[in-house]
Amino acid sequence: MAKRLEGKTIVITGASSGIGRSVAFEFARTAPKNLKLVLTARRIDTLNEVAAKINQEVGDGVKVLPVKLDVSNPNEVRAFVPGLPDEFRDINVLVNNAGLVKGVAKAPEIAEEDINVMFNTNVTGLINMTQAVLPIFKARGTEGGAGDIINIGSIAGREPYAGGSIYCATKAAVRSFSESLRKELIATRIRVMEIDPGQVETEFSVVRFYGDKAKADAVYAGCDPLTPDDIAEVVVFVAGRRENVVVADTLIFPSHQA
Ligand code: NDP
Repeated sequence: MAKRLEGKTIVITGASSGIGRSVAFEFARTAPKNLKLVLTARRIDTLNEVAAKINQEVGDGVKVLPVKLDVSNPNEVRAFVPGLPDEFRDINVLVNNAGLVKGVAKAPEIAEEDINVMFNTNVTGLINMTQAVLPIFKARGTEGGAGDIINIGSIAGREPYAGGSIYCATKAAVRSFSESLRKELIATRIRVMEIDPGQVETEFSVVRFYGDKAKADAVYAGCDPLTPDDIAEVVVFVAGRRENVVVADTLIFPSHQA
């Protein structure tokens, strides 16, 4: 697997924490030879720390470029690929991981601003990022692997829960988008693969409760959630398959979760 990933350029959105951060480390550890990682998120200082840690741990074989990018801002997304240094522009893999949830609340009580933030980040941001890299993949032709789009959805996109109507709707939209795009791209050697995690212990678990850690801890008490590394291992596994193999749809959740 490591051989297939060698020399690839991988873009990860939301790489400043949680799953995205772990995905960056997992790629670097698995293919520490001529790998190029473009780490994106809004918190550039945190991204710089992640990049420094990867360099420290893995060494010179991996080049890491932190890029400040808000996926919910269409202008920033449009400028993203043209703004990359030449050596990072030949993207092979896009991991569309950036995403958020704004609270748990009944549908009529959800603020318009929160609805917009969730859709603009989880759905429109993911679609815009995909559109930004597709021309690179298409130009590569059908020889070998043209490119991978790996979308992080959620179990919430399959099993909506009370109080999560908007977040669940965004993840259902991601799921529909992934499936439609995969069908549109059949025989192009562009792979579209979706990974839907269940409960994972990340900053997300606290953000979900508007930063109220005590409330988050109470809800998660007694649970044994997945770690970000559990998801990262699956992301790197699907990207490392032979180019004819599409792991299109993966649901991964902790054994206690119904
Ligand atoms: P975290 O909150 O730890 O990470 C979210 C990441 O997304 C951060 O790096 C954040 O970076 C980034 N992000 C948020 N908004 C934007 C934006 N507008 N532009 C760019 N980056 C953004 O949560 P997780 O790691 O848990 O979440 C990662 C993905 O996994 C999400 O799509 C989430 O929906 C999904 N997921 C999580 C589950 C869980 O239980 N944790 C379960 C199922 C799915 P920054 O703030 O620096 O911009």
